[in-house]
Amino acid sequence: MEKKEIFSQVIHMEERIGTFHDELGELKEQLAMLIEENHALAMENQHLRELLDEKDTSEQSNETESSQDKATVGEGHDNLARLYHEGFHICNMHYGSLRAEGDCLFCLSFLNQK
Ligand SMILES: [Zn+2]
Repeated sequence: MEKKEIFSQVIHMEERIGTFHDELGELKEQLAMLIEENHALAMENQHLRELLDEKDTSEQSNETESSQDKATVGEGHDNLARLYHEGFHICNMHYGSLRAEGDCLFCLSFLNQK
């Protein structure tokens, strides 16, 4: 093999490695986005599960301890307010999903109903 030929092969290989490197960088970006999205979904899922648990618990305590109805309702309202301030919808329109665009008028009117 001539030196010139070897040299051109090395150049060619270097170009291909450059392309691989770029593709790897793009894949890394996509992976980071997927991890972020997965994290957000896991958080949302956890909050929804907590809400379901609270709902079950308050329904059970309503059945067995009707004298504590008022306390349970107040507690439920606090939980919803906390959830809203953590960035989730509590309104009928988007219940349980992330508030991506600041305050939600539906949520606020729901919070102020009490
Ligand atoms: Zn809302």
